[in-house]
Amino acid sequence: MKKKNIAILGSTGSIGTQALDVVRAFPEKFSVSVLTAGNNVSLLIEQALAFLPKIVVIVNEKHYATVKEALAATSICVMSGESALVEAVELQEIDVVLNAIVGSAGLKPTVRAIQKGKDIALANKETLVVAGELIMGLVEQHNVKMLPVDSEHSAIFQCLVGEPSPIEKIYLTASGGPFRGMSTQELESVTLAQALKHPNWSMGAKITIDSASLMNKGLEVIEAKWLFGLEPNQVDVIVHPQSIIHSLVQFEDGSMKAQMGLPDMKLPIQYALTYPNRFKNDFKRFNFVDYPSLTFEKPDLESFRNLQIAYDTLAAGGNRCCVMNAANEVVVEAFLKNEVSFLGMSSIIEETLCQVKNQYNLSLEDYIAFDSESRRVARNLIFNTVKH
Ligand code: NAD
Ligand code: MG
Repeated sequence: MKKKNIAILGSTGSIGTQALDVVRAFPEKFSVSVLTAGNNVSLLIEQALAFLPKIVVIVNEKHYATVKEALAATSICVMSGESALVEAVELQEIDVVLNAIVGSAGLKPTVRAIQKGKDIALANKETLVVAGELIMGLVEQHNVKMLPVDSEHSAIFQCLVGEPSPIEKIYLTASGGPFRGMSTQELESVTLAQALKHPNWSMGAKITIDSASLMNKGLEVIEAKWLFGLEPNQVDVIVHPQSIIHSLVQFEDGSMKAQMGLPDMKLPIQYALTYPNRFKNDFKRFNFVDYPSLTFEKPDLESFRNLQIAYDTLAAGGNRCCVMNAANEVVVEAFLKNEVSFLGMSSIIEETLCQVKNQYNLSLEDYIAFDSESRRVARNLIFNTVKH
């Protein structure tokens, strides 16, 4: 494989730092062209000095001077602001943009990167949830690769290698999160600290809460629909608490293929960067006798309403998934500040969907406008719930 130049957006996060671990392990195969972060100045500076990219972006302009000064002795170009994120991915030498930003803030840089002919390694599932139709159209138009980093989607992608025949169905596996098996009544009193303790994965705060509420699985159903060109009823969710089978594909002859391994995001990150090759690494290997039973159960769509909401928004189309995603980002942020209860999150998402009108055939600007409007509506709803 020819050496690849990588832009890592969101390099200071959970996926971003693990991506840099992968890059560090194969210095002859990868080189870092761009690193970006929202606020984590010290880690971004440390990463920049270690990997010496061409461009570093600190999105929060308040921190520009600190980063600029710390990197003054290098030839790294330091940029700041939201627009810098979009400009940075245009750099000629970049082969692949690994988007590990959290939330719909990842949308614009993905769009620009595709327009500039870069392959995308996508961790930022919100990009496809908000604007899946637009994004997949651009992927086709510009003939770039959309390589999934999300473990379930990487699993499906790996199962599809060498398969020219259509998919009958896919099964996305879900750990069920820390509240698996709880009734609605029990969920009424769960706390932030409990929600932050995921049984199998260590991840950023937003996706950890999304995993507890099953919104993460809802977002992944939508992500899968767009990545693999499926109808919503071809995407099923099955709870598999051990997180060893990362997802399955069922073909039209009834044959099923699964991809398995210990839960470690470094593997799907590495595969997205080495595809279609596999590089030898020393990640811990799976041992069958450590897992004498792999179990499966149906997701509880009544207690965990978010998964049902996601299916409904996907079926309705138009701006629905964009509105749901924006409202979810707002309620998760509020839940992290103890401003809304665990179940209150779903209610506010539902109410936001009622208050923002649906619209079809959307441009990038339309999606961005609906994202902002939905955030305003959701914030108002929280404000009114908190005050009265
Ligand atoms: P994280 O919170 O740990 O990191 C997010 C990164 O994005 C940080 O570098 C942060 O500085 C940057 N960022 C945050 N807000 C930003 C903004 N407004 N503009 C620009 N940059 C911003 O998140 P994470 O857990 O690494 O998740 C990143 C993405 O990957 C999410 O979409 C998540 O759903 C997806 N994902 C994560 C995991 C995981 O194991 N963590 C697994 C599958 C998918
Ligand atoms: Mg996942």
